[in-house]
Parts: sequence; C-alpha cells; structure tokens
Amino acid sequence: MSDVRNVIIIGSGPAGYTAAVYTARADLKPLVFEGSVTAGGALMNTTDVENFPGFPDGIMGPDLMDNFRKQAERFGAELVADDVVEVDLEANPKVVKTYTDTYYAKAVILATGSRYRELGLENEKRLSGRGVSWCATCDGFFFRDQDIVVVGGGDTAMEEAIFLTRFAKTVTVIHRRDSLRASKIMQDRAFANEKIRFVWDSEIADVLGEERISGVRVRNVKTGEESDLPVGGLFIAIGHEPRTDLLKGQVDLDDQGYIEVDAPSTRTNIDGVFAAGDVVDHTYRQAITAAGTGCAAALDAERWLTLNA
Ligand code: FAD
Repeated sequence: MSDVRNVIIIGSGPAGYTAAVYTARADLKPLVFEGSVTAGGALMNTTDVENFPGFPDGIMGPDLMDNFRKQAERFGAELVADDVVEVDLEANPKVVKTYTDTYYAKAVILATGSRYRELGLENEKRLSGRGVSWCATCDGFFFRDQDIVVVGGGDTAMEEAIFLTRFAKTVTVIHRRDSLRASKIMQDRAFANEKIRFVWDSEIADVLGEERISGVRVRNVKTGEESDLPVGGLFIAIGHEPRTDLLKGQVDLDDQGYIEVDAPSTRTNIDGVFAAGDVVDHTYRQAITAAGTGCAAALDAERWLTLNA
C-alpha cells in the first residue's frame, strides 16, 4: 500500500487539535480531518470563552480554535477540511474514506464531538452566544442578577437550573409535560430552591430580541395560548447527541451512543483506535477536558505505535 499514515485524527475541536499538536510534536506526521462545515468544533458557535486557562482576559471561541489550529500546523500536522464518511477500523491498515478519497493509517484517534440538541427555532441560532446558551458551567457567570429560563425536564436541566441560581435573580424552568423526568433527588432540590419556578405543559415558541435576547414566547401545549416572558438568558438543556453515526458497528458504543473507552486510558475495544473529547464524555463536556483527553489519546497512540508498528 502506497501511503500508510502513522495516525489519522477525525475531528477538529479541542480534542482533535490537541491530539494533532502532540502527535505532530512526536514526529508522527498526523493527518487531521476537520469536517467540511464545522471545522474548529463547538466553540466556533460561541462568543466569549472565559474558562479556558491561559487567557486571563478571556478569548472569543473562534479565535481560540484558530490558535489551536495554527499550533497543530506549526508542528507539521496535515489538516484537511473534509468529512470522513466511512471507516474500516478492524482492517490492517485502518481505512478512512471521504467522498472522494481513501486513506490508510496504523492508528486512528476519534474526536468527533457531540452536538447539543436544539429547539429548532431560527432565532435560537441567531441569538446563540447572545443570551442563548447550552452550558451553564460555561456561561452562567455572564448572567448575574438576570431572570433566566431553562428548558428541559431531566437531571441535566435541574442541575443547570440549580447551578444558575448562584448568579440569577430568578430561574424559570419551562417543561412540555406536567411532571419532570429528573431523578427524585434532583426534583426535590429544584422544588426546594426559592429562586426556581416552573411553567408546566409549555414550550418555547420563539426567542425574542435583536442584538441580544430580550425574552421568550411561551406556548402552552394544551391550550395553544402564547405569552411573552422578558428574560436575560435562555439555557437549553434537552440533551446531547454524540457524533457517532459513522462509527456504528465499528467500535463499542454505550446505550446513549457515546464511544466506550477503557478509562482512564483512551483505548477503544479496537486495537490501535483511541477516542477523546465530548464523543466519550457524558459528564464534563468542557473545552479543557476535551483538550486533556485529546492529549491522552495522542500519548496512548504514540505508545501503541512504538509497541506495534
Ligand atoms: P467538538 O468541539 O464538537 O469538535 C468536533 C469536530 O469534529 C466537529 O465540529 C467537526 O468539525 C469534526 N467532525 C465531526 N465528525 C466528523 C467527521 N465525520 N469527519 C470530519 N470531521 C468531523 N466549553 C468550555 O470549556 N467553555 C465554554 O465557554 C464553552 N462554551 C460553549 C458554547 C457553546 C455554544 C457550545 C456548543 C459549547 C461550549 N463549550 C464550552 C463546550 C465545548 O465547546 C466542548 O466541550 C468542546 O468543544 C468539545 O470538544 P471536542 O473536540 O470533543 O468536540
């Protein structure tokens, strides 16, 4: 076979680029597939990032990802803005295909991330990073003394709502049913919190505001009645979807579709295949944790190559 790479990295968020920096500096000449539309990952959709260490004044999400990218390129990572559409990870060498080409590698690092579920409203997208958020840990700090809405009825929504009461004046949880899906303990905590109130049987019909969010239009799903609620922030907590469609039948996934790894290592069930970032992470889903496991995947791949290649 003509050109078998040491390592191919699929994904271009903090996990993929960090794996690229480390494998490039180990002289493994990694090939990175960045994706054709979403190169740079989830932080390309946000504004200020204030919790990534090393930037005391904060940094805009796209600028941070541009820095990651430049750092990977500086050490010789080859970056391709294309989508991987098929893989054969059991093969030797492993096969990675785009729509137009086929590539081969001894080791593969999977860092395809996860997407936050959206409400599907036009203004939700437009006001993303302008008062609309999917991550209280990331953005809660920006909403001091504001009235905030949280959408969702599961454990994550309750966790976000309770966390946000540290900053917010009030938190209104909007849920489409008349009871929560969250565990009893989370429900009890949320019900006991004086800052949290609930609007049942309701959904967000629209997000209001020009430059920033100014309110939400709430629709009662039983009566169809709509009313506007002025708010300074909207947190959407209706779930995540790991990007693993490509990997079904290739590596072991858990019942929610996340890649299973032999933690604390990044090894999957397939020899020479490693996974990092939000695609394996139910719990933390932060840029710094994704970068951390991206580093671990690079080191795991490097050691595996030393022993096996
Ligand atoms: P991602 O960043 O999701 O990157 C994966 C990328 O891989 C995809 O975007 C795509 O480009 C590429 N890819 C996927 N599939 C393929 C394929 N088949 N072929 C080629 N390429 C592919 N975290 C913080 O720490 N601080 C914050 O302030 C913060 N704010 C956030 C704001 C928003 C709006 C969002 C959505 C998230 C925020 N997060 C924040 C979370 C953080 O962005 C994620 O935890 C982090 O980006 C996960 O990194 P990752 O590398 O695992 O995946």
